[in-house]
Amino acid sequence: MSKKTVKDYIRTIVDFPHEGILFRDVTTLFADPRGFRMAVDQMLHPYAGLQIDKVVGLEARGFILGGAIAHQLSVGFVPVRKKGKLPGRTISQEYTLEYGEAIVELHEDAIQPGEKILLVDDLLATGGTAEAGIKLIERLGGEIISCSFVIDLPDLGGRKRLEAMGMEVLSLCEFE
Ligand code: IMP
Repeated sequence: MSKKTVKDYIRTIVDFPHEGILFRDVTTLFADPRGFRMAVDQMLHPYAGLQIDKVVGLEARGFILGGAIAHQLSVGFVPVRKKGKLPGRTISQEYTLEYGEAIVELHEDAIQPGEKILLVDDLLATGGTAEAGIKLIERLGGEIISCSFVIDLPDLGGRKRLEAMGMEVLSLCEFE
C-alpha cells in the first residue's frame, strides 16, 4: 500500500455550510498525529534557510497551522481576527464574501516595519480573506515572504489573485 499523503487525511463534507458546497475539512488532518506533522513539515520545508521574523495566521484554522509553524521556526505568531475579537488597538480591512462583506483586524503594534512575514491559512479559495490579511500586514510595513496553504482550490482563482499582487503562493494539495 502506498504511503498516505496530506490530501488523504482531508475529509470532504457534502452540502456544508450550504447545499451544493463541498467543504474540505482539515480537522481530520489535524487530529491525526502523522497527518498533522506531515502538513506542518511540508509547509515549513520551502523556507529552510530563509529569514522569517513572524508567522501571521488567518482565523481560525490558520491559527492551528501558524502556531505550529511559528514554534518550529522559533519566531512569534500573530493572529488576523474577525472584527471585534482583538483587545488592543487595531487596524481593519474590509473584504467581500460570497454574500456580503466582512472585516478582519490586526493589532497595530503586532508587526514592525521591515519584518519578514509568512502568511498561513488552511485553504485558498477566492483569495479574498488572504488578500485582506496581506493588506493589513503591508499597511504596518511588513514584508510578506510567502503565503502558505494546505489546500488550493484553483478553480476559484485565489492563487492568480494573490500572484497578481506579487505574492508567492504555496500549497500542499489541490481539489477541483
Ligand atoms: P477565500 O477568502 O474565498 O479564499 O476563502 C478562504 C477562507 O474561507 C479561508 O479562511 C478558509 O478557511 C475558508 N474556507 C472556504 N472554503 C473552505 C472549505 O471548503 N474548507 C475549509 N475552509 C474553507
